[in-house]
Amino acid sequence: MAAIGSVGAVLRSLQTAQDVGKAIREAGYVLSRDDMRRQLADLSGSVSEAKLQLTLLKEALDSKDEELRKLERTLSFKQILRRRGDGYYKTLDGRPYGQPYCSYCWESEHKAIHLHSKIFSKDVRQCPHCKNEYQTGRTPYLEADRLAI
Ligand SMILES: [Zn+2]
Repeated sequence: MAAIGSVGAVLRSLQTAQDVGKAIREAGYVLSRDDMRRQLADLSGSVSEAKLQLTLLKEALDSKDEELRKLERTLSFKQILRRRGDGYYKTLDGRPYGQPYCSYCWESEHKAIHLHSKIFSKDVRQCPHCKNEYQTGRTPYLEADRLAI
């Protein structure tokens, strides 16, 4: 499983950095060379850890943003789709039109896959994704022109 970063880890790293500052202040800003080296190592390590955790958090946020955009696209598409016969169709004023989408793919994965006419058979349509077959009579192409009054 990939690391996803943690706000708690960032806060702990920043606390360590703050503790280093406090230790230097309490020493009256005068430290031995070894103490200074140790404090700087702690400070550098905690800043590096905070940067790593923030990078991981940014990647996780970007991934969630993409997931939200995908859900938003699916939701807006869902609002204009309607089942008719064995397929799903886009709608115009609530009336289905155009080429049918595979009902299995839409209902199981929210993938809008157009059905294709099967070669050498006018009676069967097939989904190129799941390979389910449908009767052409139950999944006709619906002319959008008929929607005009
Ligand atoms: Zn399918």
